[in-house]
Amino acid sequence: NLNPNQQPLSRPRSAALYEEALKHIVGGVNSPSRSFKAVGGGAPVFMQRGQGAYFWDADNNRYIDYLAAYGPIILGHAHPHVTAAIVRAAENGTLYGTPTELEIEFARMIKEAIPSLDKVRFVNSGTEAVMTTIRVARAYTGRNKIIKFAGCYHGHSDLVLVAAGSGPSTLGIPDSAGIPMSIANEVITVPFNNAEALEAALAHWGDDIAAVMVEPIVGNFGMVMPKPGFLEALCSLARANGSLVIYDEVITAFRFHYGAAQTFDGLEAPSLAAIEPDLTALGKIIGGGLPIGAYGGRKEIMEQVAPLGPAYQAGTMAGNPASISAGIACLQALREPGVYDRLDRLAARLEAGLAQGAREHGIALTINRIRGSLSTHFCDHPVTDYDQAQDTDGEQFARFFRLMLEQGICLAPSKYEAWFMTTAHTDEDIEVTIQAAERAFAVMAS
Ligand code: PLP
Repeated sequence: NLNPNQQPLSRPRSAALYEEALKHIVGGVNSPSRSFKAVGGGAPVFMQRGQGAYFWDADNNRYIDYLAAYGPIILGHAHPHVTAAIVRAAENGTLYGTPTELEIEFARMIKEAIPSLDKVRFVNSGTEAVMTTIRVARAYTGRNKIIKFAGCYHGHSDLVLVAAGSGPSTLGIPDSAGIPMSIANEVITVPFNNAEALEAALAHWGDDIAAVMVEPIVGNFGMVMPKPGFLEALCSLARANGSLVIYDEVITAFRFHYGAAQTFDGLEAPSLAAIEPDLTALGKIIGGGLPIGAYGGRKEIMEQVAPLGPAYQAGTMAGNPASISAGIACLQALREPGVYDRLDRLAARLEAGLAQGAREHGIALTINRIRGSLSTHFCDHPVTDYDQAQDTDGEQFARFFRLMLEQGICLAPSKYEAWFMTTAHTDEDIEVTIQAAERAFAVMAS
């Protein structure tokens, strides 16, 4: 028994539900990142209820949640302020197909926090937001190609599903089937944190490059900071080439502070806030746990979008009152003083505990932490780009993942994904997690 304080978790109902799900839902899951394929296979855990930092599975086992639904659940599950906003929205009708005042209020809040956004547009997912920024950049520049960075994931639209980080990497799919070469040829991939490679690509494809797209702080091959000067070089090289800069802030916006990576004057990279992208894609946290995406940027670029301009983008569900209400409530809660310092403090404690446990048991572990989020890489080298993130021990991670799950600690089932702290986690949760990790490391070392 790994944990003397509790019964080992068993999940017969999850196993049965998985068998049933396989009959009806492709692969039994509605997003491949939820499958356990990369951590030894078998039934994923079927959750049925969440509250605060915990969720309970179909067998009523409780887990401390570090998955946070791949990022959006920064306030924990069923946060009362967000729940009340969603209930209120539902009672008034969830969809009108007309503009509402709520959308203006939310757009104002987001613009105040991220001043590079002169105009925004709400959509339904991060994928849609990114996909549209590319269309708008192409419309504005009259060019076709984009440059992206290896291992950065920008959603599942055709153009960006190339060398695309956590989800596809985990499953070992380099490029998705079903994407014509004619489209894949429009994307050039260069290593993250490598301004020379970007410069060479821009020199080669010059006038064809509509935009350079980047996760300014990477969240899709672990949490990876840009090296000092990298984003400045990226922006100046792109602009000298007449290309736009698109920041994909789907993970990073409202993650580290009340704002985005582009307004983050955090300790690690004081220069981050010195530069502004032309276009920004948003999602995850800004929906408070309901589906959402948004994109925005400089006025003259955004005015390419219909009905003002020739770039078409629309959505039946876009800006629906339920998602917008949840988003407003979420940002209101995040605006409370001390919220992000608390996330930072809890994650620092977790980082220290994990590092000490690994060290004591002779396990090579690199931890990348950026305020309330961290990633664990089983390797003895730093992780600053995708090659380094790939060059880590996936089997060790799979063992660790399963040993933690057995003890009621839920991580994402992929060595590339981050752990996200929520405002609902307590010091006791962190302590329990550190102790569980120590037992896991002991088993792994034996
Ligand atoms: N961009 C980034 C940086 C992401 O991490 C993700 C999702 O993980 C997306 C875009 C796509 O967002 P969605 O899953 O909401 O379509």
